[in-house]
Amino acid sequence: MAKSRSHNRYQFYIATIDTEIRQRKKLEMDLHEALEHHELSLVYQPQIDFKTSQMVGAEALLRWKHPEKGLISPEMFIPMAESNLDIIPIGDWVLESACHQLHEWRQNGFSDLRIAVNLSAIQLRDKNIVDRINYLLNKYQIPPQRLEIEVTETCIMEDIELSSEQLNKIKATGITLALDDFGTGYSSLSYLKQFPFDKLKIDKTFVEDLPANKENTVIVEAIIQLGRSFGIEVIAEGVETREQETHLINSGCTEGQGYFYSKPIPEKEFAEFLRAWKNKPANS
Ligand code: C2E
Ligand code: MG
Ligand code: MG
Ligand code: MG
Repeated sequence: MAKSRSHNRYQFYIATIDTEIRQRKKLEMDLHEALEHHELSLVYQPQIDFKTSQMVGAEALLRWKHPEKGLISPEMFIPMAESNLDIIPIGDWVLESACHQLHEWRQNGFSDLRIAVNLSAIQLRDKNIVDRINYLLNKYQIPPQRLEIEVTETCIMEDIELSSEQLNKIKATGITLALDDFGTGYSSLSYLKQFPFDKLKIDKTFVEDLPANKENTVIVEAIIQLGRSFGIEVIAEGVETREQETHLINSGCTEGQGYFYSKPIPEKEFAEFLRAWKNKPANS
């Protein structure tokens, strides 16, 4: 009796795992066609300069609207695209769409804006990436410092030597380099010395419960000091409240991004948001 029950349970597990694998495979196949089916889009999240309260840039974030399942999180589908190298065409599309968008904003008078694009480890290791970026800067007449590339510590970790080589080549084009999710990876300190980053992005998990959480308060202050000593700018992500903002400003952080200012916005609504933000009285 006991034996057959455990046998049943075993079969049940196998069936569940089997279904999960099949569902994942199906999703992977859907993702493979998502570009062609126009299911991918970019949303843009404002980045605010604390000193001037002006919007100085926006991070482009990828969205996938699955025809049946609706919106799927990039945390779920990007690793999938990385595992079968679909991230190369998808990442390429992201880069081109972001550059195209920036070109439009610049033509509409927002020439001071910068756009930040997330680069996956696979893209960073791609030998064509530097040529591709140069081609896009040229095609869309973008001054290199207006394009910012974000990579994570984990991304660099996978091949430190090649990452260093590639990052230096990207940096040589004049592009701004940001280290994303700072503090969540490994041995962050050595990266600062070894890689040509212009900017650190404090991960939102440290910003979440500022200033109530004393450990996070200490970590955030240490990151900001670290950035300052290295002459690297520091931006905080996941700013949701004025309290967090005040604390970040008092600690010497120079830029912020988060729901307090705005959620990521679809292209169609962004120009309107930009205009409204520009006309907004300071400190409101
Ligand atoms: P990330 O680059 O660290 O992006 C920040 C994430 O935090 C975004 O999630 C954003 O929507 C979210 N966020 C922004 N402000 C707040 C806030 O105030 N509170 C909270 N709780 N969250 C906030 P999203 O868009 O779901 O993206 C998740 C991750 O997926 C990104 O993290 C990035 O690693 C990856 N990703 C997104 N788009 C791309 C892309 O085009 N290429 C690559 N390679 N990765 C991407
Ligand atoms: Mg990012
Ligand atoms: Mg981040
Ligand atoms: Mg992240």
